[in-house]
Amino acid sequence: MSQLLKGKLVIATHNSGKLAEFRDLLEPFGLQVVSAGELGLAEPDETGSTFEANAELKALAAARATGLLALADDSGICVEALGGEPGIYSARWAGPDKDFARAMRNIEERLQASGATKPGDRRAYFVAVLCLAQPDGSTRLWRGEVHGDLVWPPRGAAGFGYDPMFQPDGHTRTFGEMTADEKHGWRPGDEVALSHRARAFKLFAGDMLA
Ligand code: IMP
Repeated sequence: MSQLLKGKLVIATHNSGKLAEFRDLLEPFGLQVVSAGELGLAEPDETGSTFEANAELKALAAARATGLLALADDSGICVEALGGEPGIYSARWAGPDKDFARAMRNIEERLQASGATKPGDRRAYFVAVLCLAQPDGSTRLWRGEVHGDLVWPPRGAAGFGYDPMFQPDGHTRTFGEMTADEKHGWRPGDEVALSHRARAFKLFAGDMLA
């Protein structure tokens, strides 16, 4: 494992769904993990215009505030027929009450309005960009994507966010119908990582945790 990772690692997220996935992914490495939410850190405004820029500003804010190494992700779902929307605005489409049923309906209504009704018109992909930041301001980035189709109505109550609407290629169930382990389970030595976050994490682990 990189010398860098010997200390405590701050996971720079206030999203409990993401935090649970990170804890699962980091668990085999025996790292001491604490979250930005647990430390009461302020959530920085996501002012970047790319996943990379937003991941970097979240990781840097947490690293600078704590003096610790910080790992952040920025993620979202990009709908091809909507020009990549909601993309970096995926969390914001759910509004202040984090109403993802509404956000998914919004996607569906826009798809219908744009005439994107045939199966091939309903392509989408999740993106996760991970950023590891040091308190001195240095950063490294890793990007994972998973492509698939949007289903309507949404299916399954597992996971979070847009999971019930997204069926990854090669699967007949949505992320909302999969167990946590099927969706993002990845252990050192596993060939396959399914979710965007697991894929980015696999690249991170290859570089940092070997
Ligand atoms: P952010 O990365 O905190 O800006 O938020 C990304 C948003 O994208 C989340 O609030 C979810 O709405 C959505 N999202 C990201 N990853 C996933 C996932 O694995 N499943 C479902 N929705 C996700």
